[in-house]
Amino acid sequence: ARLSLRRPDLLREAALIDGRWVSGASQLDVLNPATGRVLAHAPRLGRAEAEAAVAAAASAFPAWRALGAKARAEILKRWHGLILLHAEDLARLMTAEQGKPLAEARGEVAYAASFIEWFAEEARRVYGVTIPGHLPDKRLVVTHEPVGVVGAITPWNFPAAMITRKVGPALAVGCTVVLKPSELTPFSAFALGVLAQEAGVPPGVLNILTGDAPEIGAVLTTDPRVRKFTFTGSTAVGKMLAARCAGTVKRVSLELGGNAPLIVFDDADLDAAVAGAMASKFRNTGQTCVCANRIYVQAGVYDAFADRLTAAAAALVAGDGLAGETQQGPLIDARALEKVEAHVADALARGAVARIGGARLDGAGAFFAPTVLCDVPPDALLCREETFGPVAGLVRFEDEAEVVRLANDTAAGLAAYLFTRDSARAWRIGEALQYGMVGVNTGLISTEVAPFGGVKESGLGREGSLYGVRDYIETKSLCFHVD
Ligand code: ADP
Repeated sequence: ARLSLRRPDLLREAALIDGRWVSGASQLDVLNPATGRVLAHAPRLGRAEAEAAVAAAASAFPAWRALGAKARAEILKRWHGLILLHAEDLARLMTAEQGKPLAEARGEVAYAASFIEWFAEEARRVYGVTIPGHLPDKRLVVTHEPVGVVGAITPWNFPAAMITRKVGPALAVGCTVVLKPSELTPFSAFALGVLAQEAGVPPGVLNILTGDAPEIGAVLTTDPRVRKFTFTGSTAVGKMLAARCAGTVKRVSLELGGNAPLIVFDDADLDAAVAGAMASKFRNTGQTCVCANRIYVQAGVYDAFADRLTAAAAALVAGDGLAGETQQGPLIDARALEKVEAHVADALARGAVARIGGARLDGAGAFFAPTVLCDVPPDALLCREETFGPVAGLVRFEDEAEVVRLANDTAAGLAAYLFTRDSARAWRIGEALQYGMVGVNTGLISTEVAPFGGVKESGLGREGSLYGVRDYIETKSLCFHVD
């Protein structure tokens, strides 16, 4: 049965190129991960269509740029309003293609919309500066200009928000975009495209296509008309695509994998620590790049924390995200399940103990039981690589120096969390952690008003906030001679 929506045309099985909807000669099956059944089909496009999209974005750029920030903001605010108006349909679409519980999908739709509103407002304040002349007859003015055509590739774990966090600032400052969403979750992207058109985004300003990811990616990373490339996804793919961008010296932004430590000190408020760990670890069934991946608990509270976390995880209801009571949806696919299984098996082989879960759940979808592992050794696979699943691995530690060393012993540097009642310790550890974002006594740190991004191999650039426009503007210096 087709997914029931108030506006059935929001489930669009076509790509958006130069204002036209393109189905392509062949299609990809898109599965509902909760049932394993085909939800609908996405176009399988390639190099030719990607080049057509880039050409459309390049020819739409001058007029979109010339429109001015206020007029673009009015269109973006209409888009924001339409997303909120159709939030329930967008949430249902997202849950059907991605698996997350409907409550989380509703939350993501609101979060996704918030980037459009924020950048519509922010782009009106992309101020330049004047600089005192370096000679008596010189005057210097610095302005900011849109970089031009933006190529964007986004992942499946946040099918709407990862798009608006890039497209919002790009469009707001006057860039045009060619977007390739994940082929696993194309329908949230296409539905956003339907609403963008209705809001008055002109043809060619926002192009969205799916198909052969390497072929489309090759165009977006090598075509000289694309001046900026922005990617959210796995570290391996991001590095490879960034390297290709060097050939035409594109501006590059990357949001790659994390390996977030969550640290609970003896002096923490344990209720807050358990709530924070649950929110950070089990949101989106553990499939976010800021999910706690390793939980370090100081010896004095280790047993109490483990007991409470186990009880909280045991209470989670797993199932199809479209069912009202579901708190844990399926993993995205069979490959994800295999990775989680491998991490659990490795930890158990190294002496960890499963307090709860540890195995797949029966049924058609890609379900893994919410899992708590105790006595995980610091060198276990799940401490070294992102698990991307509902597995909380607890590591015991004794003192600050030890836990800072363990937390920083990774090439990743996206998010970290710490729980303590001692504010001096919070500052000390917060500064010592080599991460782009640190949650202090909270497991939820994402908002459109704060900069999101990583250090080390977790990425380049920042999305959201006042900093989020910087990735989409160039700085120009004008030097005037005055007689
Ligand atoms: P994940 O492991 O989260 O699926 P990926 O990096 O594989 O992360 O996927 C993120 C995005 O990158 C998706 O849109 C995917 O289609 C795209 N992608 C994956 N491989 C390539 C590639 N070789 N070239 C271009 N895009 C790619």
